[in-house]
Amino acid sequence: MNEARLVEVETCQLCGSRSRTEMFREPPFRVLRCADCSLVYVSPRHADDVVHELYDRHYWNSDSPKTRGYARYAEEEPLYLKTFRRRLRLVNDHVPARPLRVLDIGCAAGFFLRVMRDQGHEVRGAELSAEIAAHAVQHLGAENLHIGFLHDLEPDRQGFEHHSFDLVTLWDVVEHVPRPQALMQHVRELLKPDGVLILETQNVDSAFANLLGKRWQHFKHEEHLYHFNPATIRRLLTDTGFQVVRNTPSFGGKYVSLGFIAERAGRLSKAAGLLCKPLNAFGRMSIYLNLRDEMVVVARPSAEFGRTAEVRPDHATAAKH
Ligand SMILES: [Zn+2]
Repeated sequence: MNEARLVEVETCQLCGSRSRTEMFREPPFRVLRCADCSLVYVSPRHADDVVHELYDRHYWNSDSPKTRGYARYAEEEPLYLKTFRRRLRLVNDHVPARPLRVLDIGCAAGFFLRVMRDQGHEVRGAELSAEIAAHAVQHLGAENLHIGFLHDLEPDRQGFEHHSFDLVTLWDVVEHVPRPQALMQHVRELLKPDGVLILETQNVDSAFANLLGKRWQHFKHEEHLYHFNPATIRRLLTDTGFQVVRNTPSFGGKYVSLGFIAERAGRLSKAAGLLCKPLNAFGRMSIYLNLRDEMVVVARPSAEFGRTAEVRPDHATAAKH
């Protein structure tokens, strides 16, 4: 980590307040909670123009997934496909029963899109990291993927036209993005006026997060710049022209291997590690684990937005460290 490129965050991204309390610190990072709107954010953080450098090859095959990235993202294909097939039930609750145009932002290896394509939908993906997107290209074709920043997506790119998508999804993405308002405004432009947005992000005020405190697995300061709760995610969406129709911890779980559970338990405490050690014998088997510390949010563009309300300004200011 190059600390010279860290910048101090002076104000809350969501409400602009400078008033905050410190939840805890792990130098050089501090985890702060806005005293006015309760958004939790990390300061200092990497400068906006270098944040994307985190998502290189090592991110997806990380030696230290506890602090950064995933251990073996692409190899866990069967588990991700199973997780997304389970989430189809949620998707189908909120979208019309017909072939849809679907865009997954931060699509990584394209697992969700493969599940949707197998259901007969037309799929497109956007992914910042070329390393992981190579897997998506293999399965979905380069013509269906935008690799790079969303703001670099050409407005006239065929298949990615404005107001052309019935469903846009962001699985574990919004907490990584330095300017979430700009991202959500872009999503709104891509969605049809009657389209549906589904996003998933961790809930910093969930019982599990409270129980684990600073050991909560989502405190990964280089990549998780924000930690939302139901109120702050609603505010982000309302401010950018969406109406939340559902926020649930259901469907926020994941299929994990029993070997993974044994490994995580070992990190939690020695006793828990010993207790779970026998699971290693069944390392390749998987179970569905929902710690209920995620929010799966369904939202729609609000019809009045733009006529009665202005897009609120992007509040954040960051000063050079
Ligand atoms: Zn705030």
